[in-house]
Amino acid sequence: MEFTTKSAKETKKLGEKIGADLKGGETLALVGDLGSGKTTFVQGLAKGLGIDQRVVSPTFILVRKYGIGIRNNELGIMNFYHIDLYRLEGDVEKELANLGFKEIVSGTNNIVVVEWAGKAIGVYPENTVWIEFENLGEDKRKITVKS
Ligand code: ADP
Ligand code: MG
Repeated sequence: MEFTTKSAKETKKLGEKIGADLKGGETLALVGDLGSGKTTFVQGLAKGLGIDQRVVSPTFILVRKYGIGIRNNELGIMNFYHIDLYRLEGDVEKELANLGFKEIVSGTNNIVVVEWAGKAIGVYPENTVWIEFENLGEDKRKITVKS
């Protein structure tokens, strides 16, 4: 599915909509240049999951984990993992392995979103939803959801 947003607010709204439909066990792999809207989208996603905390980019710490009781605990307690591979160099797959990535993505009560997902390959589950962000100039962004 393809979307064009005309403001950061619209991208957040799109994230919020998608986040509200997540049930647990999903991995979302985000690709796109710096400033293309990945973190903005994740902020909306977190809101859709019922996270009230301010979501900031985990760029300097690789991963941030948020405990969530989505939809008033109807689906039980979930963990939302926000991972950013931007700063990682070298063997990114190995770094992720050290982080317990395999266990994290296989947990049915975990929801995982990875920025700069293209820096690692072969680590994502088969059902991963790939989301591509493109900067079309000024405030316009193209967001393509492939699953
Ligand atoms: P990334 O995580 O991909 O590097 P960010 O979400 O951190 O990108 O930054 C996107 C920047 O572009 C923000 O400053 C945001 O306000 C701005 N922006 C302008 N238009 C949009 C849009 N349509 N969608 C998302 N961000 C937008
Ligand atoms: Mg970012």
